[in-house]
This record gives sequence, structure tokens and C-alpha cells, in this order.
Amino acid sequence: MLEPGTIRTVAGDVHLADLMATGGVALVHEHLSCDLSIGFGPEYVLDDAELVANELQAAHAAGVRLMVDVGNSGHLRDPLFLREVASRGGMTVMASAGHYREGFFPDVVASQSVEELTAEIVREIEHGIGQTTVRAGAIAEIGMSGETATPAEKKAFAASAAAQAQTGVPLMTHTAQGVGWRAQIEMLSDGGADLNRVVIGHMDCLDDHEAHVGVIESGAWLGFDRVNSLRYQSDEVRAKRLADLIDAGHGGRVVLSTDTAMVTRLSTRGGAGYMAVLTEFVPLLRQHGVSEEWIKRISVDNAWEFLGGVRA
Ligand SMILES: [Zn+2]
Repeated sequence: MLEPGTIRTVAGDVHLADLMATGGVALVHEHLSCDLSIGFGPEYVLDDAELVANELQAAHAAGVRLMVDVGNSGHLRDPLFLREVASRGGMTVMASAGHYREGFFPDVVASQSVEELTAEIVREIEHGIGQTTVRAGAIAEIGMSGETATPAEKKAFAASAAAQAQTGVPLMTHTAQGVGWRAQIEMLSDGGADLNRVVIGHMDCLDDHEAHVGVIESGAWLGFDRVNSLRYQSDEVRAKRLADLIDAGHGGRVVLSTDTAMVTRLSTRGGAGYMAVLTEFVPLLRQHGVSEEWIKRISVDNAWEFLGGVRA
């Protein structure tokens, strides 16, 4: 069981306090290593170590200090690649364990029992991913392809919840543009997961204040983790929804990230890059009248508090 205040990175365990002392930002839902070309086309491949390391250096210069790669078996993420780009890019990086969603599952999700799937996720966290010594520090991104879970997705959620309860690591989900969040919370809660260690992901794709409040009132964190991903939602709507959440007293339970998985979103390829939370979204929050105190709370403190499992 991971001690509260400990972060498991690809380079070993780190104290949350040491990371927070850097004064920078943690991004809870990113991709540094992925190949989703089968599902989405050739732009969804990140496998060039020099390109990604340069991008991490640029993000670091902008104030990003930690990134969680939420890729897993479904994203074909490479744990040794993650360790390499973290080192070359000067970035603290966390790797993830688990299985993505229907359409991206390896055969084991159908063939193995929930207990067997749980044991393998725990092994990736405690010993290493695949044959490597790179240990996963999170269970992510655990997803559904629609509003209800398929039988295989139910197994993946049950195994992820059980592994979270056993290990104490953070868990991030993937929703189909925000739908099905209630089913995800039910499956994770029924499976024994600590909802204070869970982010329900991609909720910023849904322009629905009631749904956002519903996630937070369940005890989970709300993922506004597709900042600057403009094919799903405008950042204008994201900023407006966030301002309303702050007004309603819920600003302390939202985490920001960019979910960058396309090469064309990288800053060296014409996109805003991993630093978009700081360079694009924070200025927009100011325009929407969000106070500096709340901007710090939402862009800095919340993510550390979530990742470390302790109040920042
Ligand atoms: Zn996702």
C-alpha cells in the first residue's frame, strides 16, 4: 500500500512535498507514449523520443513539473520510452496500469477472471510493467465506449477498483465525452475503490453543470482534462462551466489536463502543447473573472492534493 504523500514515478518513489516545493503544475491525464492509430489514424502516435523529450522541456519551461501518462495496454504505451523521455526532458512522469476500453482491450480482459486481472494490475504497480522495472503509479485511463459498460468494460472496472483498494494509487477514468459517469462511479464504488483517489475523466466535454456537481457530490474528482482539445469542446465553455463550479463552492474538486495524444497538438507541430493549461486556459479564466487565489487552487493545488492523497 502506497503511503499517503508518496508519488510513484517512472524513476522511483518521490515525496509529494518535494514535488510541490517546485511551485509548478501537475497534469493528471496526458499521453507521452501511445499508438492509437488503429482506432483514430496515424496522427495518434507518439513514439519519437527526441520529439517528446523536447516537448517535455518546453512544458517544464512553462511551469509543468509532473505529468501522468494515462496510457495502458490499449494505448500500446512503452514503459521504457516513458523512462527515457522523462530523463531527457527533465520531467517527473508517472506511468499507468490497466486496460482502456472496448475496442482496445487485449484478449486477457475477456479470458481472465476479475481476480486474475486485478493481480496483474497490482503486479504492474508493485513490481513493474511487463518485463520492465518501470512501476506504474496510477491506474488509468479506465474507460467506457458509451453510456453503459460492456461486459468486458465491467470486468476492467471491477479489477481496477480492487487494485486501487489494494495499492492506494490514484485512478483516472475515460468517459465518452462525459456520458456514463454515474455508471463509472457505481462500478468503482461497488468494487471497493476510494472515490477520493478517483478522477472521472473528460467531463469538460459535457456542457452540463448538474452532471459536474453530481460527480463531485459522489466524492470523486472532476476531470476537466481535455483543455485545448477543441474538437470536443471550446475552452470558452470549459471556462464558463468552471466559473460556475467555483461560484457553487465546488472549485476545490476539479483537476485540469490536456489529454494530448495527437502529434499535431504538440507545440513543435503547431499546437499549444502540454503547457496549454498555463498558456491558454489560465488567461481565459482571468477573463472570466476567476480570482488569482482560485486560479492557483485549480491549476496547481488541486492536482497535487489528488495525486498525493493528502490536502495540499
Ligand atoms: Zn480518454
